[in-house]
Amino acid sequence: MCGIMGYAGKKEAIELLLNGLERLEYRGYDSAGVAVYDGKELKVSKAKGRLKILKRILVNNKKIKGRIGIGHTRWATHGKPSDKNSHPHTSTSEKFAVVHNGIIENYASIKSFLINSGKNFSSETDTEVIAQLLEYYDNGNTLETVIRTLKDLEGSYAIGIICKDNPEEIIAAKKDNPLIIGVGKNENFIASDITAIISKTRNIIRLKDGEIATIKSNEISIYNMNKDAIKKDIQQINWDISAAEKCGYEHFMLKEIMEQPEAINNTISPRIKNGRIILDEINFSTEYLKKMNKIFIVACGSAYHVGCVAKYVIEKILRKPVEVDIASEFRYRDPIVDKNSLVIAISQSGETADTLAALRKSKQLGARILSIVNVVGSSIAIESDDVFYTWAGPEIAVATTKAYSAQLAAIYLICICLGEKLGKISDIDYDKYISEILSIPQKVQETLALANTIKEFSKEKYRLKNIFFIGRNLDYAVSMEGSLKLKEISYVHAEAYAAGELKHGTISLVEDGTLVVATATQKSVLCKTISNIEEVKARGAQVLGITTKNNLNLQKICDFAFNIPEICDLMKPSLSVLPLQLFSYFIAMLRGCDIDKPRNLAKSVTIE
Ligand code: GLU
Repeated sequence: MCGIMGYAGKKEAIELLLNGLERLEYRGYDSAGVAVYDGKELKVSKAKGRLKILKRILVNNKKIKGRIGIGHTRWATHGKPSDKNSHPHTSTSEKFAVVHNGIIENYASIKSFLINSGKNFSSETDTEVIAQLLEYYDNGNTLETVIRTLKDLEGSYAIGIICKDNPEEIIAAKKDNPLIIGVGKNENFIASDITAIISKTRNIIRLKDGEIATIKSNEISIYNMNKDAIKKDIQQINWDISAAEKCGYEHFMLKEIMEQPEAINNTISPRIKNGRIILDEINFSTEYLKKMNKIFIVACGSAYHVGCVAKYVIEKILRKPVEVDIASEFRYRDPIVDKNSLVIAISQSGETADTLAALRKSKQLGARILSIVNVVGSSIAIESDDVFYTWAGPEIAVATTKAYSAQLAAIYLICICLGEKLGKISDIDYDKYISEILSIPQKVQETLALANTIKEFSKEKYRLKNIFFIGRNLDYAVSMEGSLKLKEISYVHAEAYAAGELKHGTISLVEDGTLVVATATQKSVLCKTISNIEEVKARGAQVLGITTKNNLNLQKICDFAFNIPEICDLMKPSLSVLPLQLFSYFIAMLRGCDIDKPRNLAKSVTIE
């Protein structure tokens, strides 16, 4: 997510900072900024929008000269994209300037404390508390001041700091967000990843969580939180520049598949405190929830498939009727929506035109709108009554993977939280759900270890022209996503069917060697799915089963099986979708497709 670049050397910093930030653009961002020490003070320049806007400002403002500086491309999490919210942020007296990637989870309490102690805040970001806290704790020793400040921060961060009173050095620190140091000759760098600096140096030091670095043009020192000096090795990088942009992955899609544990964790963990789900951004009174008589889910593409999972989950837990609609259909079908309806709009970009139109239509009809989006300040977010932000980070590959998974996590959190409010979940079940939901990131990690096996399997199947996906209940919802993923990136024709529906027509297409991918994880319908598998096998199909490790019966009747870890049935989609994503990826790769930018498709669909 977003980019940090820092320079300490003998050359003009601005050009190097902008150059590095340009190379980090692929990470996605909505605003950019730089801070440079000009010999007297810290000069900051920042702007909402692409880097070229910032560049234009800097060209017009020739005064910003200096040999030490920090730069940032921001992907807004707290506070909309705007000039003011862009980084770097400075302390009230402009003594410290800070760039930050990540989220300071306890920023609200720190902020009110600092306001009470006289600090003036000028942005809506969580990041600004770092700059203000540095000034609050300032004891004249920058390293000690930084260490003291870090001790108060909860959440995740990669940080670059410059201080007017100590203008020779950048201070950098990290926790759960990447930051590297580039080691040059008479110049050193900090950056979010190697891409930014690989044209300047191939010697890097990887900062670890809990380490703090002071970086001067000729000297790099690293400390732990007790201020003890640490010796670190310099690593030589031999990647070419384009590989580094994808952090070593061949495609952004694979990188994003592998980032799912983090994306899900970022969505879940800030919202569970002491075993309770806290959704600060959603404020439904129990009175409203009791009156709410129907839920509509409107979305497109994979987000629609999240809606299909949500229908089962919400109806099971809340016992309220749910209709899931493809947004472009909803709008023109004269839906029966009124003030007691809750409409949930799901969109990664928050700009999906069909979903936005469905949202506006529902609003006109008096419904309350809750949106689940990944991009802060997007149109859907702004026009909703309540917003749940998924913290999946920017998604670059057109075919969604980590945003889909983060949306599923959002559905679980919302549903369990509302279910408890409505008295539909016992205390015991609530605790069980919490521990299950917290286990998802780790189990996703375990499931992703199937990648090599799936790759080998794909080598046998990538020439197939048709593939069927079947499942019942939640497994059917996941099958739809598996089938779409395969179509999107590999151009192989695929169909998803409710397993019991196949025999009403489509089974006529099954012949010797047809591959049927049967997702069969739901205990309540397992015997029924097994019968459907037997039916297609009897007609010559080869069956790939996606099931759980303990489901030996199913594994026995399938020709191949990929097994996911055990988890409660409602959360199995978070795991069962992963082999399907990987399968699509490897099939597309073996077919030589342009995986990240499939033909005819765009990442954010802003036309109806
Ligand atoms: N949470 C910070 C903000 O919203 C940093 C976002 C980022 O990583 O760019 O400003």
